Amino acid sequence: MPRWLKEVLIGFIPVLFVFLIFIGFNVVPLLIAAVMVGALLLLTNMRGGLAVGAGAERKRKKSGPQKLTFEQIGGQDNAKQELREALDFLIRYEEIQKLGIRPMKGILLTGPPGTGKTLMAKAAAHYTDSVFVASSGSEFVEMYVGVGASRVRELFRDARNRAAKENKNSAIIFIDEIDVIGGKREGGQQREYDQTLNQLLTEMDGIYSSESPRILLIAATNRKEMLDSALTRPGRFDRHIEVDLPDKKGRKHILELHGKNKPLSSTVNLDKIAEESYGFSGAQLESVMNEAAIYTMREDLKEIEQRHLSMSIDKVMMGERTDRESSEEEKKRVAIHELGHAIMAEVVRPNSVSQVALSPRGKALGYVRHNPQQEQYLYTKSFLEDQIMIALGGAAAEEIYYGGRSTGSSNDFEQALNIVKTMMRSGLTSLGIVNIDMVTTEELMKENNIILEELMRRTRSLLEDRRTIFDKSLNILLEEETLSGDQFRCLFCENSLLPA
Ligand code: ATP
Repeated sequence: MPRWLKEVLIGFIPVLFVFLIFIGFNVVPLLIAAVMVGALLLLTNMRGGLAVGAGAERKRKKSGPQKLTFEQIGGQDNAKQELREALDFLIRYEEIQKLGIRPMKGILLTGPPGTGKTLMAKAAAHYTDSVFVASSGSEFVEMYVGVGASRVRELFRDARNRAAKENKNSAIIFIDEIDVIGGKREGGQQREYDQTLNQLLTEMDGIYSSESPRILLIAATNRKEMLDSALTRPGRFDRHIEVDLPDKKGRKHILELHGKNKPLSSTVNLDKIAEESYGFSGAQLESVMNEAAIYTMREDLKEIEQRHLSMSIDKVMMGERTDRESSEEEKKRVAIHELGHAIMAEVVRPNSVSQVALSPRGKALGYVRHNPQQEQYLYTKSFLEDQIMIALGGAAAEEIYYGGRSTGSSNDFEQALNIVKTMMRSGLTSLGIVNIDMVTTEELMKENNIILEELMRRTRSLLEDRRTIFDKSLNILLEEETLSGDQFRCLFCENSLLPA
């Protein structure tokens, strides 16, 4: 039964009873029938958990035994190592008991979406030979006070029952999106959330090393800072493991894993694909492999080629090509905008442009593809300023050619503003070393405008100096709809002989 229908019924039935009593109807037989139905439901509940949560349980049971191992997870070497070490607590429980070490009750996996947190939890269940019961924070959210808490109880009961049924000594309960129920408690309106969280804390406190089956809770979130400190304190989720975006080596490993069941041509160079997919999560890399296979099928070929993989990187990054038809005037504006980005990119980072294209993809009407860069974890002030100038290049170019901007720059500005924020947080602005929360909005706005206006001025001036390159590349782009990085650089070389 859909949840909304259940909620309507729960509200409607008491009203119906009051109405029947009001008009003098004898409700006693109806009441007896209701009590019998209630008793039946209670019996079902005792056999398999609370009826309202039965759907969730069925879903959990349907997922069946998970056979995923750590070897099937690409990259994440540190996270896997840390997790294995923590899991040894569950495996070597006798030694742990002898030494008087308290049981590990919870492990928190944190990191961006699609990096393999769920996979880690499944592999943990396999590694420790435990039953795996998965759930998500949003499954506990109900309008009615107490339902979330009873679902938490049901989840733990389900784990214990299944371990007993499958003859296992331990059970791993995985809660994805723990922040939905484990957010900071601030009192007031959130009684239902508080009760759910309190119940979770109570269940965790009831985990003892001697009990059988031994229970371990693994939770995942990408918003660790939102969690209530009661959850993260020692004795609860006191192991925090970072599951971050993979580096190049990790990306190659993930691509290899997802390429295992696919016919890859011998000319495929996964090293290059790993380089080009900088910033991709495991889920995005899986999608790259899948999309490449789809492109291969579309072309009626037997093997996946390098270009299929490159095409699918573009698709995953920017969305599928669309056949949106734009007017000639709009096309020209898009071309000018994209060339603004491309010229700025080539000026501040020579050899960085791989392609400029006018074909619409996802929501974008055109795009600049950049060559993969060296992985970097620290950024200097000048690097960040260059990045802002590349983002502002599109709007600056439109100003030069049309005397004004368009709505096409909103994403670029958002990107520029985020970089300015990073600079402020890192003490790279004239505000000095500050805690951004302690600075007034006026001061932040003032500093923001000073930085962006100065960088906009520099961007415009650099673009104006390269007007000849701009005009030539604009003609080619409008005619051919794409401009390769090498073609583009040729124009730069030719132009270096001319006065700027
Ligand atoms: P979310 O935070 O959105 O729940 P998650 O971190 O739990 O995401 P998973 O559900 O574990 O991510 O991963 C989604 C899919 O992405 C997996 O089914 C798998 O195909 C692929 N994937 C992600 N990370 C990896 C990895 N490290 N190795 C292999 N495949 C991966």
